[in-house]
Formats: sequence, C-alpha cells, structure tokens
Amino acid sequence: MGEEGEEYLFKIVIIGDSAVGKSNLLSRYARNEFDLHSKATIGVEFQTQCVDIDGKEVKAQIWDTAGQERFRAVTSAYYRGAFGALLVYDISRRSTFESIARWLDELKIHCDTTVARMLVGNKCDLENIRDVSTEEGKNLAEAEGLFFMETSALDATNVKTAFEMVIREIFNNVS
Ligand code: GDP
Ligand code: MG
Repeated sequence: MGEEGEEYLFKIVIIGDSAVGKSNLLSRYARNEFDLHSKATIGVEFQTQCVDIDGKEVKAQIWDTAGQERFRAVTSAYYRGAFGALLVYDISRRSTFESIARWLDELKIHCDTTVARMLVGNKCDLENIRDVSTEEGKNLAEAEGLFFMETSALDATNVKTAFEMVIREIFNNVS
C-alpha cells in the first residue's frame, strides 16, 4: 500500500459491555454529539470519518453494535475485516472492566493478531464514583499489549485522541 492515489479504508469495531458508552463515543467523535438518554437498541451500523495522516486521506469506517452485546450475540460479521478495535469499559462499573477479558477472547477468535487494539476506560468524568483505578487499566493494557486511554464521551476528554491513535497505528501497520 501507500501508492500515489491509494485509498485507505480501515474498519474499526467498538466492543464492550452494554451501556459503557460505545455509541456515545462514536457520536462524540463523528458528530460531536452526546446523548444522556441514548437507547441501547438504537445504533447505526457504522460511521465513516476521514482523517489526514502524513498527507494521506484515511477513511475510518467505525462500527457500533446495535445493542447485541446485551445478549452476547455480537456476530462474526461484525468483526470481519476489522483492522482496529476499541475495547470499552466504564470506570464507574467494575463488572464492565472484568468483562474485558471476555471481549479480548472474542476479538482473538474473530480477528488476527495484527489488529490495533485500544483499551478505553470511559466515563472518566465520573471521578466521584470511580470503581476502577487508572493504574488497573494501565496494568491490564500493558499485560495484554493494548494501548490505553481514559475518555469521557460526555465532556469529550481524549475521544478524538483515542480514535486517532488507533487509526494511526493501523496506518503504521499497513504502510
Ligand atoms: P453503549 O450501550 O455502550 O452504546 O452505551 P451508550 O453510548 O448508549 O451510553 C450508555 C449511557 O451512558 C447513556 O445514558 C449515556 O448518556 C451514558 N454515557 C456514555 N458515555 C458517558 C460518559 O463519558 N460519561 C457519562 N457520565 N455518561 C456517559
Ligand atoms: Mg450502543
């Protein structure tokens, strides 16, 4: 890849337990929107974002679940062809952090090892009811070889940075 005029199109999936903020991370990144009362059943299939990397136009096709994760029924079609993944938990709900191991297994089953993976501790605005320390997130990421970032879809902290680190890593992997 990397020829003149070459098109870069990267599929990225967002996974994690229900209500951790996956859909809001995507709407914050793609449209700068946040919804306090978002419904798990309402989900777009994907959003495409264009990003300039080293003067090249990269299209990131970012996939969101339509709430299937509630039934542990995210299908292999969802993962197919993914170059990157955001594994999201909610820093105010420990059970969602404990689920990350299962989401990592899912990812390993469906995608090959070169997938760029980022662990995302979302809702970092909820510091007063934090249930998972930053250190724990960092340690898990280090142990599993993931990038790590704490984000807030509500106040937009690190949202763009998280997506664009994954996009850049994919770009580095393929070019
Ligand atoms: P999903 O099921 O993982 O797609 O989660 P949603 O994006 O639908 O969000 C679930 C709930 O968490 C909604 O009520 C959101 O408003 C809320 N939420 C999402 N992100 C944040 C965040 O960064 N901070 C706070 N405080 N709430 C959030
Ligand atoms: Mg959702």
